[in-house]
Amino acid sequence: LGPTITVGEILVEIMATSVGEGFRQPIDLVGPFASGAPAIFTDQCARIGGSAAIVGAVGADDFGRLNVDRLARDGADVSAIAVDPTYPTGSAFVRYRADGTRDFVYNIATSAAARFGWSEAVETLVAKAGHLHVMGSALSMPSAVAVIDRAVRIVKERGGSLSFDPNLRKELKYDDDTERRFSELVAMADLLLPSGEELERAAGVAGREAAIDRLLSMGIPEIALKEGARGASVFTPGAEPLHVAAFAVPEVDPTGAGDCFGGAYVACRRLGSSIEEALTYACAAGARNVTVRGPMEGAGTRAELDAFIAATGRAGP
Ligand code: ATP
Repeated sequence: LGPTITVGEILVEIMATSVGEGFRQPIDLVGPFASGAPAIFTDQCARIGGSAAIVGAVGADDFGRLNVDRLARDGADVSAIAVDPTYPTGSAFVRYRADGTRDFVYNIATSAAARFGWSEAVETLVAKAGHLHVMGSALSMPSAVAVIDRAVRIVKERGGSLSFDPNLRKELKYDDDTERRFSELVAMADLLLPSGEELERAAGVAGREAAIDRLLSMGIPEIALKEGARGASVFTPGAEPLHVAAFAVPEVDPTGAGDCFGGAYVACRRLGSSIEEALTYACAAGARNVTVRGPMEGAGTRAELDAFIAATGRAGP
């Protein structure tokens, strides 16, 4: 059972402590927090006991050390994180609006996060990987795309598995090839982890039921649908859907819930959990993470998630 690897942006996030529009006025900020969707996924995957590694880059600066130290402390393999001598660690500023949507300011394209390539360390890691998890946000970076394309081929040829979380971000720029690559990743995935809108986009049809039917009929063996404060459901061909209600928690900072969900779900399934057990841990990981500020500050170890599950009621059906 080789490690689960992912490829993509490693960032620091700095967040506004007040709700409002944008960053045009001076406002109070908290952070830096370790961040980047693939990094959050990797951290949660490692914390719950999965073997996890990330391919990416940070700058030779404090923000970079913050991320690498954090991932290493939480048990992730950081051997394929390059330290860029020239460009700084990528960053994201986030502020929530009153309606719950977010304003992001990203510095990725001109940071170390977007400047890594295939290296000996990447080669060594990919050669032993059992599972590759691809995140849509990473498809905004040509360097990551090149590494992902090559890694997908190698992992699949060796009989490894692939999961895809189609988390495209409207603030990031994607090139003309992204739609094609997106469709290819959907079609190749052994596990798809969309949220509502992404489900319809992945299927290319409107409506939840139609989208699920289309994706299952395309041969995708497992779809874990993230439904925010309503919990999550898993769809597999020929079986009844399985739904797990959300845990009832106060939502302090929703960023990173989907990535923690994915990290826990993939780790549990790789470790042999049933769909129901994996779904329960994944919903717990997402819910626990929204209770604190910072995109991965609420990621949990298995013991922490067991305690959370035992102590937390359900939000509804
Ligand atoms: P993000 O893009 O912010 O990472 P996402 O849209 O990919 O998130 P969500 O559906 O928001 O993913 O969250 C993933 C999972 O986390 C949900 O399926 C749910 O189980 C849990 N979760 C998220 N928000 C809440 C909440 N407010 N209360 C309880 N559980 C939550």
